[in-house]
Amino acid sequence: MKVAKFGGSSVSTADQIKKVLNIVNSDEDRRIIIVSAPGKRHKEDVKTTDLLIRLYEKVIDDLDYISKKEEIIQRYADIIYELDMSDNLLTTIDQTLENFITTLKDKPSRLLDALLSCGENFNAQLIAEYNNSQGIPTRYISPGEAGIQVTDLPQNAQILDQSYEALYNLRTYDEKLIVPGFFGVSRQNYIVTFPRGGSDITGAIVARGVRADLYENFTDVSGIFRANPTIVKNPEVIDEITYREMRELSYAGFGVFHDEALQPLHKDRIPVVIKNTNRPNDTGTFIRHDREINSSNIVSGISCDKGFTVLNIKKYLMNRQVGFTRKILGVLEDYNISFDHMPSGIDSISIIMRSKEIHNREEQVLNDIRDKCDVDELSVEHDLAILMIVGEGMHRIVGTANTITHALAESKINLKMMNQGASEISIMFGIDVADADKAVKSTYEYCYNGKCLKV
Ligand code: ASP
Repeated sequence: MKVAKFGGSSVSTADQIKKVLNIVNSDEDRRIIIVSAPGKRHKEDVKTTDLLIRLYEKVIDDLDYISKKEEIIQRYADIIYELDMSDNLLTTIDQTLENFITTLKDKPSRLLDALLSCGENFNAQLIAEYNNSQGIPTRYISPGEAGIQVTDLPQNAQILDQSYEALYNLRTYDEKLIVPGFFGVSRQNYIVTFPRGGSDITGAIVARGVRADLYENFTDVSGIFRANPTIVKNPEVIDEITYREMRELSYAGFGVFHDEALQPLHKDRIPVVIKNTNRPNDTGTFIRHDREINSSNIVSGISCDKGFTVLNIKKYLMNRQVGFTRKILGVLEDYNISFDHMPSGIDSISIIMRSKEIHNREEQVLNDIRDKCDVDELSVEHDLAILMIVGEGMHRIVGTANTITHALAESKINLKMMNQGASEISIMFGIDVADADKAVKSTYEYCYNGKCLKV
């Protein structure tokens, strides 16, 4: 059994929806389909989810929201008319939006989640109704009915474990099932959404719940590139990658697949394939527990993310003091700041975090560290970029770090920090933001374009 998820651009127009259903109907193993809200139809277009946020903002500011609501209804009307369907659904859409606005106006974060869920929810209903009208038995299933129970944190839902048992029952249906992505229902009976891009998460949860043999994630690219195609010209598409590698690359900016979607899949080792709705015969990228390693795929991908801040702390004889790091981390905990890396020396430690974590309160945090931790020196660096070289092959093969540092040195890139954990799945380099693109290009040349160093 396969679970297939189609992203926003795949379900943004009537033509796209027809393509999706051709894919779905051409394989009887594709039994459960997760859909996103209609995404962008062209570069300047606005996603339905963003239109829903605009509607929410008008309502909350007590402004006239009718034109925003109509814009949303129009997105579905365009699809419905082109598919030659009855317009009954448009009345349901209008009534549902109005109903949420009236009943939840005094609970803004609940209203936001309820409105956000509409994007995928209406689309799932529309797609199920259309496929049925084409003679293929198809049923819309709401996340509540499917059993997707989540925590009660608005816009940040997490799946509750009991959902998996309930979801297993979806195997008993004979029809094709269309499930809206991006939200679940809390025990308090509220609609709660996953973080943005969260239809991938729904797909992963459903795939795990029904113990699918494969989770197909259809998008508008034929897989995952080894590096950002806006930086490297025509990068290779990755044929196979492990869950752990994917997690590392998503962390540092690979946006094709939501990083929170990996966890449920990883647990039960459900393989994933990232495929292109517009070129369904392309092989795509498989994400699995293990992969074949050969000399050309030691490194599976290179990414570089910007927007990091680093706190540099010096303390003479730090290595002999018990509890020094705990005190520093205690201050970060007081401010609810999470950090990403912590390379250290005998008398120094650097704490790297996303700049948004410390933004606005940097001065207070620094003062607290000075007051509570008895440091010798404390400084902050902004505009740090993190270059991640990711590959499970590195732990068996000698010389990757040598190749990478050589590539970076040849491009005259100063390495501010380096970090490699014992798992050797990735090497992280802290570099200046201004060097970020150059670093990706030069390391890519060495890793994939035959500029390999002989060791
Ligand atoms: N529609 C939601 C968003 O734009 C969720 C998704 O498409 O995955 O974030």
